[in-house]
Amino acid sequence: MEEISREGYLAYSGHKQTAELQPIYKKHEKVLGRDALELAVEAFESARDGSEEKRSARYLLEWEIETQAAKPLAALDEREIEWENSAFVRSPDGRVIQYQAVPIEIANTRDRSTRLAIDAARAKLVEKEHAPMRQERLEREKDYIESIGIASDYNKSFEAITGISLSGLASECELFLRDTQSMWDDTLPRVLKKSLGIKPAQAKRSDALALFRAAEFDDAFPGTAMETVIRRQVSEMGVDPTAGGRIIFDIGDREGKRARAFCSPVRVPDEVYLVLRPHGGQNDYNTMLHELGHALHFAYARADYPFEFRWLGDNSVTESYAMLFDHRMQDAGWLLRYTELQKKRIGKFLRTAGFEELHFLRRYCAKFLYERTLYSGEVPWAQLPDLYVSLLTGATGFEYHPADAFVDVDPRYYSSRYLRAWQLQSVLDEHLVERFDDDWFRNPNAGRWLVGELLAEGQRESAEEIAARAGASSLSFAPLARKIEKLLVA
Ligand SMILES: [Zn+2]
Repeated sequence: MEEISREGYLAYSGHKQTAELQPIYKKHEKVLGRDALELAVEAFESARDGSEEKRSARYLLEWEIETQAAKPLAALDEREIEWENSAFVRSPDGRVIQYQAVPIEIANTRDRSTRLAIDAARAKLVEKEHAPMRQERLEREKDYIESIGIASDYNKSFEAITGISLSGLASECELFLRDTQSMWDDTLPRVLKKSLGIKPAQAKRSDALALFRAAEFDDAFPGTAMETVIRRQVSEMGVDPTAGGRIIFDIGDREGKRARAFCSPVRVPDEVYLVLRPHGGQNDYNTMLHELGHALHFAYARADYPFEFRWLGDNSVTESYAMLFDHRMQDAGWLLRYTELQKKRIGKFLRTAGFEELHFLRRYCAKFLYERTLYSGEVPWAQLPDLYVSLLTGATGFEYHPADAFVDVDPRYYSSRYLRAWQLQSVLDEHLVERFDDDWFRNPNAGRWLVGELLAEGQRESAEEIAARAGASSLSFAPLARKIEKLLVA
């Protein structure tokens, strides 16, 4: 894991041309062989429910399965990456746009008919070339997981291995979509009319991309101040933002650095890289806070914990800590103290944030419900695109394209981790406010609790156990709905 993580860090931060992963897998072949998988299955099945052995075995088994499933799919992945890197779309004025850059181009295109034309060209290409590749990958992955025989089908085996209830989460998503429907119906038409000058019946997914690209507040988030200001906040919480030098900030511009920020835990907890290529504005603050949450989590994990508690576990947990930090961008006190957003603009900023949060959550709920049906095998592959369009369009109010039904799928239910992280983050935030006040983010007592009680545990505990520690009886969307309601009337 250290070698893979280091290779990933070097390649994606622009220090190296490519990540040479095959030799690492070859060198450690035995760790990911049939025998290792059988051993992990046996350990999992024989450990007593609720014991520490069961936790260890669960995380190790999940890791074995994920990593082993990736092996037979590697050739498909390589083919897809090659395709993505070489495909292009032609805009109506004849310009050639790299496939990977199309979403950014769509978001930045102010002229609506051009925007729709680029998206139509994109969808045509996806339908013909990208979607069939992804469909094949999904089918093969489903077959592989089911062939291991942990449970009778893909969804049951995911539940058995991870301990996450897909059906429970699905009911919560349905409830959230129902509960927030009128809030969404009240908000969306106004925003569409004001920002894009269109009616709800006309709204397409490409319009959503353009809508959320808005740079209206970027001047309040100067790039030059970002690192200093965010470090200052963490210090005011009584926490060393570098965790005693274990976190290395790599946030300068460098050729070959990925556009998307990431956190590379090369040695947990001793060597953690936070990598960001600055683009400027509000979005950088958001990603920096998010990745810092991950970095602090890895760098403050207990060094004496076994591998599986430091490296593996339920990623809903690490995502929730990342979200706890990035959600400071919805916190009036934080914004006023650490950014140049002043009192007179704060209301509008928060209303916009509430709108985005609600859109994003509704999209993720619908996406998860769709993915659950996809993996259930209950709906034939040929009919999935129609279901995708009806679920996603219904939840967001933006019309989705059937071509994206196999492309817009998170591998191995990462959507469920995000949704659970969202829930846990809101539980933690409410608890921190209750216990340490609104400005817990600059309270050393809060910092002590966060580091000592939560971050130090790595991912040993489940999201439910951590919620319980913060006084919540269960994970749910209720605190999120409450928060969004407040933001929308800020
Ligand atoms: Zn994350």
